[in-house]
Amino acid sequence: MAAPASARRAQVRRRRRVGLATLFAVVGLVVIGAAWAMRPEAAPAPVSYASQSAVDEAAAAAAASAQEAAKAAKEIEGRTWAVGPYVEEVPKADGIAAGAPVKGLVALTFDDGPGRYTYDVLALLKRHRMKATFFVLGSMAERDPAALRQMADEGHVVAPHSWSHASMVTLSAKDLAAEFDRTNAVIREAVGRVPAIQRPPFGDFDGRTNRWSRAHGMVPILWTVDSNDWQLDDPREVVRNVLEAPTLGPGAIILLHDGGDDRSMTVNALPAIMDGLRKRGLRSVTIPELLRQGPPETIAPGTYAPSTYAEGDTANAG
Ligand SMILES: [Zn+2]
Repeated sequence: MAAPASARRAQVRRRRRVGLATLFAVVGLVVIGAAWAMRPEAAPAPVSYASQSAVDEAAAAAAASAQEAAKAAKEIEGRTWAVGPYVEEVPKADGIAAGAPVKGLVALTFDDGPGRYTYDVLALLKRHRMKATFFVLGSMAERDPAALRQMADEGHVVAPHSWSHASMVTLSAKDLAAEFDRTNAVIREAVGRVPAIQRPPFGDFDGRTNRWSRAHGMVPILWTVDSNDWQLDDPREVVRNVLEAPTLGPGAIILLHDGGDDRSMTVNALPAIMDGLRKRGLRSVTIPELLRQGPPETIAPGTYAPSTYAEGDTANAG
């Protein structure tokens, strides 16, 4: 049965009322929104002055964080043998040949150990009150971590010279990582420090190996005075090679060996070398200390001829 006409009209009116109410509600919201958007900027909050105790607290917090930062920096230095800011300026493809020629400082360096002659070298350094840098082979260090601990305890620096004395220029990035990561792990385990320097075996390097070393936090350290101790059988010749080298002077880095073979020549030459240095107003410090004195002398790739030594020969320069 159809609804009466009056009932249908009432239904239409109700629908219209609902529609109008919705329209008014929407218009109302738009007006309110526009008014909100156009409201005047809120007045700035009155400036509040912190109480003196709050200021004191802030100052104390700042001092504490500065102290924390200084402590953290010291800790990092304690873990890394910091080489100072001058090294940052050295081109990434270059190595370091010598330190800045200041203060009569030189650096005695000993490669290829530790070995049975290392302890004699340590005793002589102590007696002459000189500090040195030991570029150790991981394969040797693994057998005698106590030697590394003694080096560090007596103020010397322990740094990597690779694991197996392989020429770096012959190695892939993967093999370079294997040689140095493993060696550095032995050093870290023994002395609790991360080396910031390394010495390439045989003195063989190129732009690629130097960049690889820098990317791994190690600066390549070469030398300016070669004692040639590894192939001489008269300690006087070793002494002459050092003390009469035209390159001997402040900043010089001196190459010697405490491992790899019979190093009695080195041990026998060392007292006269250190006496001679002192007579010339020179004193040996560690490589990181030498590098902190000023801009070092750099050495570009291609300056040292790549090694001509037979593969596997560990009696070598560097
Ligand atoms: Zn070597």
